[in-house]
Amino acid sequence: MFDEKFPESDTTLPALFIGHGSPMNAIEDNEYAQSWADVAQSIPKPKAILCISAHWQSTGTQVTAMAQPKTIHDFSGFPQALFEVSYPAPGSPELAQLIQQTVRSTPVEPDQQWGLDHGAWSVLCRMFPAADVPVVQISLARHQTPEFHYRLGRELRALRRQGVLIVGSGNIVHNLRMIAWRDEAYDWAVEFDERIKRAILAGDHETIIKYEQLGKMARLAVPTDEHFLPLLYVLACQENEPVSFFAEKVTLGAISMRSVRVG
Ligand code: ZN
Repeated sequence: MFDEKFPESDTTLPALFIGHGSPMNAIEDNEYAQSWADVAQSIPKPKAILCISAHWQSTGTQVTAMAQPKTIHDFSGFPQALFEVSYPAPGSPELAQLIQQTVRSTPVEPDQQWGLDHGAWSVLCRMFPAADVPVVQISLARHQTPEFHYRLGRELRALRRQGVLIVGSGNIVHNLRMIAWRDEAYDWAVEFDERIKRAILAGDHETIIKYEQLGKMARLAVPTDEHFLPLLYVLACQENEPVSFFAEKVTLGAISMRSVRVG
């Protein structure tokens, strides 16, 4: 689709899934934050970022359409320093409009209330610390099937040729009730993470879309689907191109930090 601000180019940006884990990764220097910074340095500077965060679920699909999204501190029980983080990246009403025009499978409503939740800013402040790339978020519509989200991701794929970096932010394994504040992992968490890894490498998206069929380990790894679904958007963006991993680790018992690069 021709768009003045986002013309098609010869460069196709990768699509990234970031396992975001604890919001503390925004301010703690660790291997995860470093790997996010490294991946951002390895790609051409995007014109804009489209983030699909685990932390924005809504009725229907919405897209942030404000010029200046606020930083949302959507957590509690963390140090004051984390509440003081601001990520002042501009929004892009133009990209929001382009997304509304691009998506055909479901209506996409413009939003003026949200902003950037920590699923977005806690990783983007590491990837693009200058906050000089506009960011738009698209919400996860509640009560929809994994197929719905995958189909929507497939429609967004074209944006990669228009200078838009697609970033899914969640965790392949995310069970807060089972969390252990140690750098260790439950066997079922590692097993599920490995099963999904193998499916990603094999291009077997069907298994990933139908993850619920993986039985008990899936019920433990994905007790609610919001942290898993952003992965589907990123995989749906895959053309005939390689996929690789960074920050591969299951930690805190039940959090997979596995991050995926498509293209
Ligand atoms: Zn989260």
